[in-house]
This record gives sequence, structure tokens and C-alpha cells, in this order.
Amino acid sequence: MPKIKLKLKGRPGWSIECSAMSIKNLGKTFDIHCGGIDLIFPHHQNEIAQSEGWTGKKFVNYWLHNEWLLVNGQKMSKSLGNFYTLRDILAKGYPAIAVRYLLLSTHYRQQLNFTFEGIDAAKASINRLNELILKLQHFLGNTKERLKIVTNEVKGTRIAFEQAMDDDLNVSEALAAVFELAKQINTWIDDEETVGKKSALEVLDFLKEADTVFGVMNFSRKERLPSDITKLIEERARLRKEKKFAEADKIRADLLRKGIQIDDTPEGVKWKKA
Ligand SMILES: [Zn+2]
Repeated sequence: MPKIKLKLKGRPGWSIECSAMSIKNLGKTFDIHCGGIDLIFPHHQNEIAQSEGWTGKKFVNYWLHNEWLLVNGQKMSKSLGNFYTLRDILAKGYPAIAVRYLLLSTHYRQQLNFTFEGIDAAKASINRLNELILKLQHFLGNTKERLKIVTNEVKGTRIAFEQAMDDDLNVSEALAAVFELAKQINTWIDDEETVGKKSALEVLDFLKEADTVFGVMNFSRKERLPSDITKLIEERARLRKEKKFAEADKIRADLLRKGIQIDDTPEGVKWKKA
């Protein structure tokens, strides 16, 4: 084939840019291409035609076309004064994580109506999960299994979660399964007041797994303690019960040297990183 020399005037059009960029970075065939529903025709059809015409290969395996974003029930527009950038929303003091939750909690093929009440609700939802995480982390020091065994409930939730996500990314149903479990666990905690370490870990592990999809929960407010530290804390509690305060204080000082500060509160022993 003779080398064709082109003198380009101007720049390549939008559709050809997309073909060129995606083939360069993702290969001749790639799995997922997203875009708004308004781009199906002509833009995405152009992309397919010119890419496949050049490579002779299937361009994209799955197309995900998302619905419009509405603001207060209307299309976002400068003239209506309902035009917000992410920067505007953050400047109003809303946490980025709540915006993230709001945007991902509606199915991509449904219109998302953005309202500030919606962000508040998103914030409250995240808080509900984070409060449960804190409670569960608090119970990690418990050696006795006092909550009824949660294995079946966690297993059932995991299945419901995965089925929902496998069904064209049904995020609302997947989240509903997570909140159903959270509600159930909270009720049990309220009834029994305490949770054993094994059950707490099971639920926490599931929440961590679910959060690899959503990325909204906070597991770092309290970290898990290494087992030698937990043993020292339990040992100290035993000594205090036996009124061996001098020995108990020695352990407390020992823990402090290891970077763990122990406080005795009406709700029991609490620890934090010193
Ligand atoms: Zn494109």
C-alpha cells in the first residue's frame, strides 16, 4: 500500500477521537464502553463503524448507556440556575463521599434526580453503615460468642447482593440487601447488647467485600488489634476483677509503650492509638 501523506487542517472529529483513543489505550476489542443515552446515535454507531471497518474485529463487548441527570426534577441548565459542579457542592459543605453514594445508588439506566435533600439522605445512609461498622469493631475484643450465629444471614445477603449486581448492575437492590442485613444485625445487637468476635468479623468481612463495589464505608476509624494486644487487654481486665490493680497498671503501661492507650469507661474498656 502506498504511504498516504495527509496534510491535516483542523482536528479530527469527535467520533474518530473516541475510536483512536480507545483502541490506543484499551486495544482493538474491549469490554465496556459507557456513555449517555443521547450518544447511541450517531456517535457510538460511528465509533463502531469506523473502528470495526479499520480493525476487522468486534469493537466493544458491552455498551452501558446511562440516563439523564436531573436537578430538582429538571434538566440541569445554566439558564434555570440549577447548574452545579462538584466543586460547588463541596463548597456548600457536603462530603464528597455522600455525592458519590447519591450518584451510584440509582441504577444507571434510570434518571437520577439530584436534590440537596438527596445528598442529606445519602449522608445518613452512609452514617448508618459506618455506625454499624464501629459497633462491630468494638465487639472484636469479645471472646465469647453471644450473638446468635450470623453465618446464614451473611451468606444469604452475599447471594442476594451478587445476584442483584449480576442483573445489569442493579445497585439499588444490592444496597437494599446490605441495609436489610444491617437492620437485622442492629436489632440483634440491641437485644443481646453484645456481639461475639466471630459474628462481628463475619459481618465486617462481608461489608468490606460489598464496599469494594461501592467505596463509601469507613473501616479505619477503629482498626483491628493484633491478638497479643487483645490478650493483654483481657489479662488486665481479669487482674482488675481480682483487684490486682498494681499488676493491671503494669499491663496498662506496657500497652502504652506499644502505642495503645486504655480507658475504663462506664460502657467498658475502650482503647485508642496513643
Ligand atoms: Zn465517544
